[in-house]
Amino acid sequence: MTEPMVWRLFTVQVQSVTDLSPTYKRFTFAGPDLADFADCGYDLRLKLILPAPTGGFTELVHGPDWYTVWRATPDERRNPIRTYTARQVRRGQCEVDVDVALHGDAGPASRWARAARPGDRIVLMGPNAAHEGPHGGVEFVPPAPGVPVLLAGDETAVPAIAAILERLPAGTVGAALLEVPYAADALALTAPAGVDVRWLARDGAAHGSLLVPAVQEAAARLVPVPGTAEAVEDVDVDNDILWEVPEDAASGRLYAWLAGEAAVIRTLRRHLVGERGLDRKAVAFMGYWRQGRTEEG
Ligand SMILES: Cc1cc2nc3c(=O)[nH]c(=O)nc-3n(C[C@H](O)[C@H](O)[C@H](O)COP(=O)(O)OP(=O)(O)OC[C@H]3O[C@@H](n4cnc5c(N)ncnc54)[C@H](O)[C@@H]3O)c2cc1C
Repeated sequence: MTEPMVWRLFTVQVQSVTDLSPTYKRFTFAGPDLADFADCGYDLRLKLILPAPTGGFTELVHGPDWYTVWRATPDERRNPIRTYTARQVRRGQCEVDVDVALHGDAGPASRWARAARPGDRIVLMGPNAAHEGPHGGVEFVPPAPGVPVLLAGDETAVPAIAAILERLPAGTVGAALLEVPYAADALALTAPAGVDVRWLARDGAAHGSLLVPAVQEAAARLVPVPGTAEAVEDVDVDNDILWEVPEDAASGRLYAWLAGEAAVIRTLRRHLVGERGLDRKAVAFMGYWRQGRTEEG
């Protein structure tokens, strides 16, 4: 018998579209396939497989060879693939929510999200519950009890931070800093009382212009005495992916999880590890997107 695939394709329909704020639309995807979508929690990522430029999913094959077939498909018939966060998985109801931050028509995912309606068909790629054992796709590692957390990101990281906050133990302390386009993008979140949740509205300012000083201030407050600064080699965010995640639970003075525009996250990494002296094994840095580049590079 062949082993079930770790990740697989799930054919779904848009069940509902909810305008959460000027920037966010929540998509509830539904379909019997989702009975096997594993709820791995925290910042679990998934892939949205979008209709091809010529429309539909005629070239997409399910099964172990799907990726090889997808790669070989001519551009106009190939389905664009973009990464998102499973904001909530309701396996029993065969539903998955994804919160999409709209950014105009520049990319296929944002363009699709602006126009999508209930009943539209789409394909997700995500963890297969039929597979026993770890699925991957989750980067947040719950820190040891008593270790404060610092969660920070832009509008693309808000769904992940919201899902992480919901799962943190009640006694967790720390800060969550969320930079979003507008004040009206502040969503209702569930978080432990000891985590200071702060929304930072850019209102037209540059990406990171509020997040960077806010992270610097929060790090200084949560870890008042700097550690030994470590030399950090700079990642070329235009050609390489900024992705550095510890695998073990942090037991030090702070656990930090940061995601968003890659150049902004690189600046934060430089500050926290290179200046503030945080142990890099306790800091997860993820470039979720790069200004001026598509997810395909
Ligand atoms: C693990 C992970 C989880 C993610 N989770 C989410 C999520 O839950 N919700 C969410 O909204 N995003 C999320 N993202 C970010 C999302 O994948 C990117 O924003 C993606 O580039 C959007 O695809 P697109 O087709 O709209 O644009 P692309 O075709 O990839 O890019 C087209 C142009 O738009 C620019 N661009 C891309 N994203 C943005 C943006 N947000 N604001 C302004 N300009 C942008 C690019 O720089 C490029 O110039 C996640 C990314 C990762 C890696």
